[in-house]
Amino acid sequence: MSFNFVKKLEFESEFFDLYKLSDSAYGAISKENSGMGGNAGFIDIGDYLIIVDTTGHVNAAKDLKRAANQYTQKEPNFIVITHYHMDHLMGTSLFDISTQIMTSDRTLKNIQTEGRKRIEEFKKMDLKEMEDSLNTETDEEKRKDIENDLFFLKTVRSDDFTVREPNLTFKEGCVIHGTEKNVQLRTFKKAHTDGDVIVYIPEEKILFAGDLLFARRDPWLGSGDPEGWISVNEELLALDFKVTVPGHGELASKEEFSLESKYIKEILELVKKKIDAGEDPTQIKMEDFSKEIQSWKSPILEWNIKFLVDVLKNS
Ligand SMILES: [Zn+2]
Repeated sequence: MSFNFVKKLEFESEFFDLYKLSDSAYGAISKENSGMGGNAGFIDIGDYLIIVDTTGHVNAAKDLKRAANQYTQKEPNFIVITHYHMDHLMGTSLFDISTQIMTSDRTLKNIQTEGRKRIEEFKKMDLKEMEDSLNTETDEEKRKDIENDLFFLKTVRSDDFTVREPNLTFKEGCVIHGTEKNVQLRTFKKAHTDGDVIVYIPEEKILFAGDLLFARRDPWLGSGDPEGWISVNEELLALDFKVTVPGHGELASKEEFSLESKYIKEILELVKKKIDAGEDPTQIKMEDFSKEIQSWKSPILEWNIKFLVDVLKNS
């Protein structure tokens, strides 16, 4: 999707394309297969510079830091973490304690429980199988995926790697007041995760949605509450914004939130139907969805189905 008021900047990075969205806001949109993971961005509110998320690749985060410095001539004062998933957290330790790291109470709790647990699991993983598959895989794209996964795991496992955990949290929301702009942070009921945070600039109608939005690709349901997500999307649609930086996918409009809710409703319905009919839900394909959803990237369809089967069987 293109927006006539958005300007693509000439910034060199192998990880992302950089867009100027408004006077204050910049969106860093991950390039396919770059290993960056989640999108990110930064906001210059006059006296303060805010970074939104730190990606899933330390080198992508280094590029983000460089871009923020180049376009604002400022050092970051705040980082906002939208949720606890590692593909948004990898760059936190590149920033020293002069940069405050903010998130919701529940996201901090998730980082300290689920996040720490995942890191321990990554440290124990046997990488041999992955390394072997790299030697035999001939498909270029799949090779790139394996290389990115290995880079990620090796980074997490290295002795000097840490996640700097957020040091400023809020229960429902807060406002960062700048000399030029004010930025709202808000959290909602459990949706993509418990404690998702959005970054919203009302005056400029800009929204950083974190992983509350996967734009035109299957959203990862397995850490959250699908029904809750649909209702949070309703709340987001009630906000006044003209462009969104999604957690994954290209810059998006309101329409993508409606489509995402449609996907969640349809997959719930499809899985229920299969279970009721005594059929195998893993046979569900993207062609079973509405026409406008069928063409989405769907790397995690199978995982979403498995998650929903568990949820529905236990309800
Ligand atoms: Zn996520």
